[in-house]
Amino acid sequence: MSRDDTSVLLLGTGGPWVSAERFGPSTLIRHGDERLLFDTGRGVGIRLVEAGEEPAQVNPVFITHHHLDHISDLADVMITTWLRGRTADLLIYGPPGTEEIVDTLVNKVYAKDIEWRSVGEPAFGGWKPVQAKDIVPGDAVETANWRVSCAYAVHGHGLNFSKEFKNNWKCLSYRFEAKGKVICVSGDTVDCAGLRSMAEGADILVQCCFASSAETRGNSHLNDVATFTLADAAQAATIAKECAIGHLVLTHLRPKSEADLAALEAEVRETYLGALTIGRDMTTVSLPEKPG
Ligand SMILES: [Zn+2]
Repeated sequence: MSRDDTSVLLLGTGGPWVSAERFGPSTLIRHGDERLLFDTGRGVGIRLVEAGEEPAQVNPVFITHHHLDHISDLADVMITTWLRGRTADLLIYGPPGTEEIVDTLVNKVYAKDIEWRSVGEPAFGGWKPVQAKDIVPGDAVETANWRVSCAYAVHGHGLNFSKEFKNNWKCLSYRFEAKGKVICVSGDTVDCAGLRSMAEGADILVQCCFASSAETRGNSHLNDVATFTLADAAQAATIAKECAIGHLVLTHLRPKSEADLAALEAEVRETYLGALTIGRDMTTVSLPEKPG
């Protein structure tokens, strides 16, 4: 892989629904030798190794929000990258509350594990710290090679939660930019202005899409999910079309038959005619290489 080559690897394309085929949501952006991980869903470490990726190379981690399916293996990523030889601090970015979660994992939940391995397994060279940072729209994480910005997404904010809960329930969409190429990771969201601001003109949009209208039709629960919580096929297609997406990649799919997947694809195709990938775990989507 040359220094500027960029691709997306879908490590997990499921949701909270436990599945042997679709692990929890995790998306890896490979940019040259760098590995940026978006969410740490169930089984992310297994999928990294299965893909031939070295977990120690993952850095930084971006968290979209604090639902179980997106952070269930955050501690695994923190500790496994250390045990696999991570040398730098692991940087973890996410919406407000991320610092507190990481602090709790490091200093409470896994404090004994970390001390035990630091002292009892000196071959690991002592704990390699993690640094968590809460970020909000307007913040950007920038290096010499790439930039990641974020916007608030709408994920359940229209449901009947208390005002206090909604004020503390922050969900992010991300936009990765490198050398004029753009990849958007929607996180969990319905169609909303924040997501669109991150997705506009992206070469690749990794978009949550839980079901087709064939599944949601006549099902009041699934209709509510599509209205308030997760984009359905029609929304994903409309976003992709109106944001002029080069390649739409669907993830966070509810378990479904091959026939339902085909129906979902057909529904997207009614609206969006660009490149389309119905995501499966371990799918790679590449950006075209820069000429010259
Ligand atoms: Zn989710």
